[in-house]
Amino acid sequence: MSPETITAAVKAAMPEVMTELAELVSHASCAFPGFPAEPVHAARKSVMRMLAKAGLETRELDLGAGYPAVWGEIEAPPGAPTVLLYAHYDIQPAPMAQGWDSDPFKAVMRDGRLYGRGAADDKSGIAIHAATLRAFAGKPPVGIKLVIEGEEETVSNLEAYVNKHPELFKADVMIIADMGNITCGEPVLTTTLRGHVQCSVEVRTLDHPLHSGVFGGPAPDAFVSLIRLLNSLWDERGNTAVAGLRAFDWPGADYPVDLYREMAGMLPGVEVVGDGSIASKLWSQPTVSVLGIDGPPPIAEAGNVLLPSAKAKVALRIAPGADPDAELAILEKHLLAHAPWGVVVEVHDIKASDAFKAPMGGPAMAAAMAALATAYGKAPSEVGSGGSIPLLETLAKASPGAEFILWGAEDALANIHGANESVHPDEIERMAIAQGLLLATLGGQ
Ligand SMILES: [Zn+2]
Repeated sequence: MSPETITAAVKAAMPEVMTELAELVSHASCAFPGFPAEPVHAARKSVMRMLAKAGLETRELDLGAGYPAVWGEIEAPPGAPTVLLYAHYDIQPAPMAQGWDSDPFKAVMRDGRLYGRGAADDKSGIAIHAATLRAFAGKPPVGIKLVIEGEEETVSNLEAYVNKHPELFKADVMIIADMGNITCGEPVLTTTLRGHVQCSVEVRTLDHPLHSGVFGGPAPDAFVSLIRLLNSLWDERGNTAVAGLRAFDWPGADYPVDLYREMAGMLPGVEVVGDGSIASKLWSQPTVSVLGIDGPPPIAEAGNVLLPSAKAKVALRIAPGADPDAELAILEKHLLAHAPWGVVVEVHDIKASDAFKAPMGGPAMAAAMAALATAYGKAPSEVGSGGSIPLLETLAKASPGAEFILWGAEDALANIHGANESVHPDEIERMAIAQGLLLATLGGQ
């Protein structure tokens, strides 16, 4: 199929795909524990109907626990590579208290965008896959393995399943449609993700709580000691100050600072902290955060008491290419070494998940860049992602040598996980065209 034919076929498929996406948004498919299961099952059935209409018969993939994934396969034509298409049908919760302007589960068009929870993250990814398959009338020029997960936003059972059945997920190219351009109409390819490590740090100073007046002064209390210790994690300018962590300057596109401020909801006057570009700070430098503290009581219950012990949960986003176990060890060593006043410090691992770096220089990456350039009419740039998707490393291990294409319709305005999530239909259309062009190139067309 020629690029013109693929473009025309995707455009023709779009009205129906957008109607199906709106229907998919109506299912509140939050897979978190404690949320109703029925809408999750309904969303999965809806995904299966949507794919059947696109020419792909799917089945439920029982992962041994939790919600099944949707699985579909089309055998590769002789000599053609196999491409795995990934997206997820579960969503984040959408409480009205987040500030929604309309019912999150009634998809509505406003100012050219479709609003609703999951419209972007990641039901738009399913729409992209459906539109791509429709363009080939169910006969793509490559082999297809399609997996639509139902537990991406919560504790996922897919990773363990891939580890147990790596052969099922073997593919030459993995297309993960759960990303997006920063700005609508400006194509990017995501090539790295940061990893994530966490530990707990506990400080002990006394063998019992003390009256803050009678004893306060000479004896360090644990909470103040913990504050001093945690403060050593940043320098004056707000850079992460843990020596020895991997970091590099982001070589691709930058993230516009004004857009970042707006998307982050930074209040007027609050400074952007740390050295380097926004892109480097988000995608290729380590970032340390404190996620929780145990020890001090809530203010309403706080008496005049010095605390004997206090504990914090410390998290570190690590740069692509860094070894999570090594970075976690560096963080823990820093915490042990910076304890003030001889206080007792104990650290414990919580988790260490890999960063991700897409293999570069392969034919699929080049074809994806060319496909984006054709679909958008401008050259794409390379970006990273500050978040982590542990599944990618698992897929990479199941399919050594596979290339990874990370893209999608979740632009910065999509406000995924927040109020008034939305997607631009043109982004879905352009991404489906790009994906169709990519499959055609990979299939030798
Ligand atoms: Zn997602």
